[in-house]
Amino acid sequence: MGKPPSQESGFPTVRRTGYSCSQIGRARVSKPVTKVVIVGGGTAGWLSACLVAAHARTHRRRQLEVTLVESPDVPTVGVGEGTWPTMRGTLERIGISEEQFLLACDASFKQGSRFDGWVTGAADDRYYHPFVAPAAGEPRDLVAAWQAEASSAPFAEAVSAQPRACQLDLAPRQPAMPGFAGALNYAYHLDAGKLATLLAGHGTRQLGVRHVRDHVEAVVTDDTGDIAAVRTRASGEIAGDLFIDCTGHAALLIGTTLEVPFRDRSGELFNDRALAMQVPVAPGSPISSQTVGTAHTAGWLWDIGLPTRRGVGCVYSSAHATDDQAEQTLRGYVGRAIPAADLKSLAVRRLTFRSGHRERFWDRNCLAVGLSAGFLEPLEASAIVLIELSLGALLDNFPADADSMALHARRFNELFRYRWDRIVEFLKLHYVLSKREEPYWRDNRSEGTVPERLRDLLRVWRDQPPSSYDLPHASEIFPAASYQYVLYGMGFPVPEAVRGAAPAGTVDGLRQVGQRARVLASSLPTNRAYLDQLRNTAGAAPTSAEHVS
Ligand SMILES: Cc1cc2nc3c(=O)[nH]c(=O)nc-3n(C[C@H](O)[C@H](O)[C@H](O)COP(=O)(O)OP(=O)(O)OC[C@H]3O[C@@H](n4cnc5c(N)ncnc54)[C@H](O)[C@@H]3O)c2cc1C
Repeated sequence: MGKPPSQESGFPTVRRTGYSCSQIGRARVSKPVTKVVIVGGGTAGWLSACLVAAHARTHRRRQLEVTLVESPDVPTVGVGEGTWPTMRGTLERIGISEEQFLLACDASFKQGSRFDGWVTGAADDRYYHPFVAPAAGEPRDLVAAWQAEASSAPFAEAVSAQPRACQLDLAPRQPAMPGFAGALNYAYHLDAGKLATLLAGHGTRQLGVRHVRDHVEAVVTDDTGDIAAVRTRASGEIAGDLFIDCTGHAALLIGTTLEVPFRDRSGELFNDRALAMQVPVAPGSPISSQTVGTAHTAGWLWDIGLPTRRGVGCVYSSAHATDDQAEQTLRGYVGRAIPAADLKSLAVRRLTFRSGHRERFWDRNCLAVGLSAGFLEPLEASAIVLIELSLGALLDNFPADADSMALHARRFNELFRYRWDRIVEFLKLHYVLSKREEPYWRDNRSEGTVPERLRDLLRVWRDQPPSSYDLPHASEIFPAASYQYVLYGMGFPVPEAVRGAAPAGTVDGLRQVGQRARVLASSLPTNRAYLDQLRNTAGAAPTSAEHVS
């Protein structure tokens, strides 16, 4: 636990006695929640605003007013380029069509991740973590069938047709399918800045979100300690019943005002720096179906293909590499695909972060969403999905009045504390299973840095494969299937007790994987063909939010 990072120094909290009853309205105990104030206009802020406003419309809570206050002075992080499949449901709920989204956000399809060089760093060291779950079967049966029938194939390729689709750069759907439907489960790669612009246009024009472009200079609390209003530089005080803190790393409401402690997880997850670069691509060049994460001596590189560029970045631990070394690693990687003269002209953006999260995400009448709630390094792109899950939990359990706020907060905090802990363990798994010998990788395996629950599970998995007994929640963020993909992708030994005959049904299921891969290969367009056709059909393509709402 520690002091929250990057708190804005001198940011005042104004405590005002008598404020809660006399200035806001009715007696506090029964005050209904009608005014939602969101502070921050990054991915978290605009997703929150659109989801709350869309929910209010769908559920006829028309009395709910949604205001988003966004500083013109503080830039957004805007790096998040990989989403989870949940984004399809999110866009649908908000009322943005898939076509609008793909065009406006320069987006492409993501079908999972490929990890290169994580075990030994050898040229053939790679495995997939696809979005499609393995062919049906009990974990023991599935692993037994893989060993008996297809042990020469990597686990993911034996149990799912999706890695083959990724190898061929295929789209997960045909253009004629209804929006958001797919032959394979999928998410998106996108330009995060453009997503915020799209959501802002849609939220203000279609969903009635009030947008205040102003800097919040102070937070006003009432005599109970709840937040009563935020005070802006030019627009006065904006009062609310529920505040959503989307102020990014600054965490002005949850951290500075309410002083909820920050739980530092950098002892488990070492990475604390990133360099990001936008790399142009030639027209017509293939677009990858997966995020590629390539291990390096002190971290890893991400590589994300969009229709008009690649987003490439280097994540590293400042205790194990200098900024210059990291930049050399990044330029060395990008330089494999583009001429040296072009590489020289590409700018690098530097980002600093600390893996960790709040002790509580919902405190009093303030919910932290996005970076204000915390951040864990971007290895499995778990930040935007946490934003979506937070909003889902809020809206499915929306506090009717001030009285029920504490109860909802407690339930929310329990659930999300569970989720953040599970994400830390799953991310750490990728490091613990590595056999690389550089100091960074050895340090990552040292026992004191591995969460105790993960250590216990690794012991269990020597005797049996990961199953729902290990991840028992109905809505686990990473289910047992994800653990199977990483474990067997990284060469974790198959338990002796699982070897041997597998049930005929599971064996059949595995045999059909190859057949399905062939059918998909002959019926799905490539990402490039799909996305170029979309743009050509749209003609003078509506590529900004101005045209799509
Ligand atoms: C290197 C890196 C890679 C990442 N990759 C991924 C990925 O692949 N997938 C993924 O899901 N996520 C990823 N993320 C995380 C993702 O970028 C963030 O979760 C996402 O951008 C949400 O940010 P945010 O909206 O919480 O904060 P920010 O983008 O920082 O927005 C903060 C907002 O608060 C406003 N604000 C601040 N102070 C004030 C004030 N005083 N008054 C008014 N407004 C104020 C700012 O103006 C801004 O609008 C990555 C992050 C990093 C660092």
